Amino acid sequence: MEPGPLARFTPPLEEGVISAWLPAHAPAGSWLLDPFGFSSRLVLEAARAGYRVLVTVNNPITRFLLEISAKPPTETDFKAALADLASSKKGEERLGAHLQSLYLTPCEKCGNEIYADAFLWRKGEDAPYARVYTCPHCEDSGEREANPLDIERARKIATTDSLHRSRAFERVVALEDEDRVYAEEAIEYYLPRPLYFLTTVINRVDSLNLMPKRRRALNALILIACDAGNTLWDHPSERRRPKQLNVPNQFREYNLWMQLERAIQRWTETASEVVIESWPEKLPESGGICIYEGRLKDLAEEVKKEIPIKAVIGSLPRPNQAFWTLSALWSGWLWGREAVEPYKPALRRRRYDWAWNATASNAAFTHLFGLLHLGTPFFALLSEPEPSFLTSALTAASAAGFDLQSVALRTQHDPVQLVWTCGEHLKRQPNEAEIEDVREAIHTHLAERGEPASYLHVHAAGLIALARHHALKQKDQEFDEALRSTHSLLQRALEEDPRFVHYSGGESVDTGLWGLSSSSDDLPHRGAPQSRHYESSSDRVEVAVVTFLQKHPNSIFREVEQDLYPRFPGLLTPSQGMIYAVLSSYASKVDGLWKLRPEDLAAARRHELNNIVELVESIGSRMGYSTRKQEKNYLWEQNGELERTFTILASALIGRALAETPYPPQKTVIVIPGGRAALATYKAQRDPSLAARIKEVQVVKYRLLRTLIELPVLTRETFEEQIAGDPLEKSKSQMIMF
Ligand SMILES: [Zn+2]
Repeated sequence: MEPGPLARFTPPLEEGVISAWLPAHAPAGSWLLDPFGFSSRLVLEAARAGYRVLVTVNNPITRFLLEISAKPPTETDFKAALADLASSKKGEERLGAHLQSLYLTPCEKCGNEIYADAFLWRKGEDAPYARVYTCPHCEDSGEREANPLDIERARKIATTDSLHRSRAFERVVALEDEDRVYAEEAIEYYLPRPLYFLTTVINRVDSLNLMPKRRRALNALILIACDAGNTLWDHPSERRRPKQLNVPNQFREYNLWMQLERAIQRWTETASEVVIESWPEKLPESGGICIYEGRLKDLAEEVKKEIPIKAVIGSLPRPNQAFWTLSALWSGWLWGREAVEPYKPALRRRRYDWAWNATASNAAFTHLFGLLHLGTPFFALLSEPEPSFLTSALTAASAAGFDLQSVALRTQHDPVQLVWTCGEHLKRQPNEAEIEDVREAIHTHLAERGEPASYLHVHAAGLIALARHHALKQKDQEFDEALRSTHSLLQRALEEDPRFVHYSGGESVDTGLWGLSSSSDDLPHRGAPQSRHYESSSDRVEVAVVTFLQKHPNSIFREVEQDLYPRFPGLLTPSQGMIYAVLSSYASKVDGLWKLRPEDLAAARRHELNNIVELVESIGSRMGYSTRKQEKNYLWEQNGELERTFTILASALIGRALAETPYPPQKTVIVIPGGRAALATYKAQRDPSLAARIKEVQVVKYRLLRTLIELPVLTRETFEEQIAGDPLEKSKSQMIMF
């Protein structure tokens, strides 16, 4: 499981992003508004940075997550609450012992009765096929076939299931409620054993008479068990972040008692204290969180009169049927029917498409517009980006009068950072969408990048152009129509233009990579005059990282990143994988601090380069060639005829070297240090056009020349064999990351 409570449903977020952005946009102590209340980590970080954050939340579970993270129970309260639960009586037995006994299983090796960590199930079967345990007696550990006793225990508990199932939904909705069927459907995602466990615990909590703070602590633990108890844990785990309610073909049933115990650590690890109040209580100037439980539209009038909002922050919600439905269910289990009531529509909602998302977001943006002053900045994170999510967000915001200022996009695995400002008019006259504007925007991006980009990047480039031109949605269009026509425009812009090349992973336009065709004037091609502008962004990142480390040895990763981001803004933001690949090639890390390797310090490299030049000359002369230096290249010649040309690099800037050399590829040899081979391979894997250009020449490592000079007999044939037998891909000793 990922760290942090309900981490598979809450937006992934990088620490430090919002606290770095805020100071330049709002003075400390001023009021911020988070209209979505979807990411407690974002809100907590802003509050800790000294801001007063007003948050609107209508999901009771998200609200609870925020409250507990801001004002965590002490470890003592967690432990005491769990101990009170464990020691209460169930007949003659203690409840803790009874609940643990549900997970007893005989150890395969030593035969002792032990507690399983989890059972493994196949969809639709009435008993588990395997169990996972670590035996405390003989240390046997891992996945073992289910024992007949496991099967018997699972079947036995199913015989009383209907009773527990009806108890479970009656806490959520009344018997005569028309939403009853939806609650029953949601409860289908619980097997009989976890459902028995959870209803037993929840009913017992009512009669324990705990102090409020311990009750709160226990609820926080039970919430983790509620999530651990459903059938949405695929095995082996691939769908880490479920969006839909559906049962995987194989899934994991966790030992919920263990989950209750482990939940203490999951809460205490992530929490830290921040002032938290409920609206309309006020906050101190030193910062804190004020929760408004309800909808943005109800808040508008009150806020505009009393609170000057200096900036808006938020993680944009994406449709998540699984989390929304389960939130309604869990709210009922933890706090009863009244708590579910305002959130109950989530149970019956059946539309989760992007057009619906855009319509709902647009309503939120429109209410937001009503309570902001002209020019108020809005910093938003869009996590798990995909083209449709981006289109939906940009269209919804633009139609509500927000002006797009910037989009920073790294990879499809990182949250996109968006900044809008509140524009002049809520309803603005839209313009026609022009395919030529989109083409130029995509072309400009690819030329700046100097290497192919993912579809998400070119899609974003086109969208930004449309957003700036106010052409994402026409006046008489519904959102579904607007989204469809934007997508088809973007795809046509790519497909019908000979300047764009699709390095495809499949048929569809949104897979694989898009680049510029080699006949296009903007590609770095052989013999082109050097132009920094068109150098590939990965080559430029390599230069920037090394330059930074030369000036700032012993830097942490974050400092390297912060130096790079202003140089590579927006859609050019380098991936962390790229930065790591450069760092691991040139530098070593000691205690978290990066520093160039001794052999990669400038003086050492110059010395090394001179050695290699001498080797090239000696090897050449042994084979009867004279060596001549011509600009940056070393030429082997015989009777005035060019035989070979050598470009000797200390870097992995092969793309640049190929663009600069005027000689034919079949005569070109690029010599790089062995420590650079993994980085060069990494770049070629990211860039199919570079990979193709590398294939046309010979790339060899310094080491090969050192080996050659040692050979007692060196003929031209041996030379050809040796350089052909030293391909880049052979040197994967260093780590490759994406
Ligand atoms: Zn054992």
